[in-house]
Amino acid sequence: MAAPKELYFEKRGKLLVKNLQSRHFEAYYCANKEEALSKALELIPEGTSVGWGGALTVQQIGLADAVKKGNYHVFDRDSCKTPEEKTQIQQQIMFADTFLMGANALSLDGQMVSIDGTGNRVAALIYGPKSVIVVAGMNKVMDNLEQAYHRARTVAAPTNQQRFEGATPCTVTGVCGDCKSECSICNQIVITRNCRPAGRIKFILVGEELGL
Ligand code: SF4
Repeated sequence: MAAPKELYFEKRGKLLVKNLQSRHFEAYYCANKEEALSKALELIPEGTSVGWGGALTVQQIGLADAVKKGNYHVFDRDSCKTPEEKTQIQQQIMFADTFLMGANALSLDGQMVSIDGTGNRVAALIYGPKSVIVVAGMNKVMDNLEQAYHRARTVAAPTNQQRFEGATPCTVTGVCGDCKSECSICNQIVITRNCRPAGRIKFILVGEELGL
């Protein structure tokens, strides 16, 4: 018999898939990283262009490496040597066939909360790339939208901010101080509640703890 946590993730994952589909997203539940990688590659036609933005989970399931090694035109912002080069790649990603990203938090009823600093990630989520694939560990799934918002603001963002230099309250204390700092990564907060055109945004939910 599967471990309690696996069963818990699977049951919630299947419910969330149904709720996401009712909002016109494509959605899949994968038990582990390996299944998630194979499902993601199925959704990206060979020969097309792919980019990503701030996507630890995409790295963790091996998807970034797989597309770099595969037959794809990759906009790899992580290999940029200068800030100017990175900005240019981020602009090109807006025209990519597929955009890959992780999630800050999801609610069981099928909505996603995304927090962004410069806005490149939420911009591509909302409009631009033909297809968006969101890969999310089931640890990101909260019971309702209020809890998802709370997770994004009090767990995902302060944890994410630790990767950057700059004095924000959360960098010092680990706790969000609702700052207005120039270094804040919490400048855009987006709720994605429905998908138009239908199927443009695809969710791959993974039955493991992934990302921040
Ligand atoms: S302190 Fe500022 S940067 Fe840190 S999580 Fe809160 S709003 Fe975001």
